[in-house]
Order: sequence, then C-alpha cells, then structure tokens
Amino acid sequence: MTLPTDGFIFPGISTRVVFGPGTLARTAEEVERLGGNRALVLSTPNQADDAKSLSTQLGALSAGTFCEAAMHTPVEVTEKALEAFRQSGADCVVSIGGGSTIGLGKAIATRTGVNQIAIPTTYAGSEMTDILGETENGRKTTRRDASIRPETVIYDVDLTLTLPAQMTVTSALNAIAHGVEALYAPDANPVTSLMAVEAMRAFKAGLPVLRETPRDAEARARVLYGAWLCSTALGYVAMSLHHKLAHVIGGSFNTPHAETHAILLPHTTSFNSAATDALKPMEEIFGATPGAGLWDFAKQADAPMRLQDLGLSEADLDTAAEIAVQNSYANPRPFTQDDIRSLLQAAWEGRRPEH
Ligand code: NAD
Repeated sequence: MTLPTDGFIFPGISTRVVFGPGTLARTAEEVERLGGNRALVLSTPNQADDAKSLSTQLGALSAGTFCEAAMHTPVEVTEKALEAFRQSGADCVVSIGGGSTIGLGKAIATRTGVNQIAIPTTYAGSEMTDILGETENGRKTTRRDASIRPETVIYDVDLTLTLPAQMTVTSALNAIAHGVEALYAPDANPVTSLMAVEAMRAFKAGLPVLRETPRDAEARARVLYGAWLCSTALGYVAMSLHHKLAHVIGGSFNTPHAETHAILLPHTTSFNSAATDALKPMEEIFGATPGAGLWDFAKQADAPMRLQDLGLSEADLDTAAEIAVQNSYANPRPFTQDDIRSLLQAAWEGRRPEH
C-alpha cells in the first residue's frame, strides 16, 4: 500500500451494521434502539410481500407499508410516500429492497429528518452512502448530504438467496465499480482502499460459486460482504469517469442501471488503469491487467457485455460522448470527447480491452 504523500482524512464510519443470516428478525430491536415507535416499511411493488411480512413481524412497531418505490427515485413517488408517511403516524422508515427502495427511504429521511433502517436485497450499494439521485421531469440530479445516510443497515444473507442470476451478476459488477473508483478517487484513504481490495477478493471468490449454486449460503455471504465494503467505500470518496458515464447513458437512454454499470466497467477501468498504479492490486485478484481481468471475470459470470444489446445505436454513442464532456470532474486520466467515443465503441461492441 502506497500512502498518499500529502496525507489523508479518514472521516469515520457512522452507520451501524448488523450482518448475517437471519438478521431480519432483529429489525424490531434495531427500530427500538434508534428510539423509534412506529416504522413505515418501504418496498417496490415486486417486493410488497416481503414488506408486508416484515410489517407483520414488527407488530405494534409498524405503521404499515408503502410499496411503490421505483427506479431512480421519481419525486412524484416520494411526494405520495411522504403523504402516506404523515397519515400513518410513522416516526422512522425501514426500506427493504434494492437501490430503488433505499433511495425512497433516503428521500423521505432527508425531507423529514427521521431515522432510517436499510435492509438491502441486492449488491447495488446505496445503503451505506450519503448520496441520493432523484428524477423530476425526466432529469436526474444527484446530491450528497449527511441527512441522507441511513443510521442502521441490516444485511440479512437469507434475503439474497433468491436474487435472480442475472441481477446477482450485474449488481455485483455495479458494486465492483464502486470499488474500482474508490481505489483511484482523489480523496481515497488507506481504509477505503483496503475495503475496495478486500471486496474484490470476496467477489472473485463468491460469484463463480453462485453461478453453479445460486443458493450457496457461504458464497452469498461473501458476496454480500463485498457489497457492504464497496458501498462503504463509495460513501466516503468522490466518483469519477465510470459513474459519470453510467449516469449519462442511464439518464439519456433509460438503460437499466446495473447492466449499464456491468458493461461499461471493464472499459472505464482499462482506460484509467493506464494512468494510475492504484488499480495494481486488481491484477493479482483477476489474473490479468485490470480492464482485461474484469472483462474475463464478467464474461465467465455470464454478464451482459455489449451496449448494443441494451438498444443503443452508434449515433447514441456520439450523443453520450458529447454529454459526458460537458462538465468537468475528477479522473486520474484527462480525456477528450474522442477518447470517450472510442471507449464507448469498445463497450458497444463488447471487445476485450487490452489493459
Ligand atoms: P432495484 O432496487 O431497482 O431493484 C430491481 C428490481 O429487483 C426491483 O423490482 C426489486 O424489487 C427487485 N429485487 C431486489 N432485490 C431482490 C431480491 N433479493 N429478489 C428478487 N427481486 C429483487 O435495483 P438496484 O440495482 O438494487 O438499484 C438501482 C437503483 O439504486 C438506481 O436507481 C441507482 O441509481 C440506485 N443506486 C444508488 C446509490 C447511491 O449511493 N445513492 C448506489 C447504488 C445504486
């Protein structure tokens, strides 16, 4: 590990984490620990049964459910949820689901100041961060604020046993993307770097097992552990080119979040690996140069590999490259619109990167 020459700041980790199989049963205890009396349980329509069963389990501590969470946290859904929150007499929220549900919990918490417990069921990694992306009139804006970060996160491995195969892979690559960008972030510190590398080892060990035996509890635990580490790292450092491109493509062409991350990652990693030694630990983990190693890992896991399969045309790549250079942001390697256009071409074709 090379220490940053000008020192570093480690901001501390403020979220309480309860990790392990069967930990969902400890939700009531965690609500009470935060001083909560009545929790509104949130989910997407898909996971309404999970939310209702958790609400039943909470008994008198439940203020009911709101099961209309949607991708990219639309403000109109948040307004409806806030109305339900007020009418229910709730004093805290419990979000059970992926990044979409956790986003809704964050949107309610930052507007009302109430405590939130997040119970993630994917590896996307919103639960540990102070980041909230919201959509209004078709535009997604992202902000960071301490009031957005959940107070408690419950990682129950059992909830991930039935995560569908495709979502397991794409959401794991979404998590690894946080780890890659944490490694070369301008405000990286030795603790976030340790977390990112440890997470990659966990994914490398666990994901191939899940391809063969999706309900393997030990591999599920490993992968969820990796997701926790990546989410934590994401919550304390700035993100760069990879997240920007995923945001531009998702926002402009409405492509699915986790798939977009999964396809772009080997290419953004390859592009940046030329400019930094921070990704060197990945070579030993993935057995090749960082971008190529990740591409091999994704291919073996049956991940989607080509932007064209998400319905993008080559003309869309021109548009995306143009938008991606409109604002400046930190990145280990400077780039031009042409650089981005060729990176996107490789991702569109699904070519194995050289580096
Ligand atoms: P998601 O939350 O949209 O979930 C996709 C679908 O899968 C939903 O219908 C959900 O109910 C279902 N699902 C979730 N877990 C399941 C399980 N275990 N079994 C069966 N079905 C399950 O998808 P996601 O990839 O977790 O989250 C994507 C969203 O999260 C995006 O809006 C993204 O911007 C956001 N995100 C935010 C941050 C942050 O720090 N703010 C970080 C990562 C992702």
